[in-house]
Amino acid sequence: MERIGIFGGSFDPVHLGHRLVTQAAREELDLTRLFFIPAAQSPFKPDTRPTPAQERLRLLRLALAGKSWCEIDEQEISRGGVSFTIDTARDYARRFPAAQLFYLIGADHLPQLPEWRAAEELARLVEFVVIPRPGQAEAPFPAPFRGRWLAGFPLRVSSSQIRERVKVGLPIDHLVPGPVAEAIRNYRLYL
Ligand code: ATP
Repeated sequence: MERIGIFGGSFDPVHLGHRLVTQAAREELDLTRLFFIPAAQSPFKPDTRPTPAQERLRLLRLALAGKSWCEIDEQEISRGGVSFTIDTARDYARRFPAAQLFYLIGADHLPQLPEWRAAEELARLVEFVVIPRPGQAEAPFPAPFRGRWLAGFPLRVSSSQIRERVKVGLPIDHLVPGPVAEAIRNYRLYL
């Protein structure tokens, strides 16, 4: 049976924490495929306008170059508007009826899961997989969700931290893949 990972987020920009998530998920869940799904607009960040999708996609492609088991799915960008996970989960359930679907989230999202749109249906369609983040203690899944925690190894890096560092001129080379740091400089992103 195919085991498919789905990893949604703003990826503004993609960073080594995201790569860590995908590597942990691949190893611990034995994934056959993994889809990165950049959101058009996160429902949880209504007041922040993300960097234009084409720039975020460019960075994602650079970060994932050569990783054939990682794919980028642009469906949320193409739909536009606020990106709800249920719409994406329905699409995967339709496209891969025989596969086991794992939806990857960082531990910061776990407490809010019951507020996600169509929570009951979402919990039926995918199994949630939580990757530890520093400062987030391991907690049980709130109803109606089922899922598991990965071991991973918590890495203190976030997109907001990277944006702030670029803005004040601090280096980010240790936080993002090399080509991503170079593209952020070349295209003058996050200044
Ligand atoms: P921001 O700092 O702008 O809130 P972020 O770094 O959390 O962004 P997102 O693109 O919002 O990045 O995250 C996509 C997914 O990756 C989310 O489920 C998030 O919890 C998870 N994630 C991001 N960074 C890490 C990390 N260091 N460890 C584990 N999960 C992470």
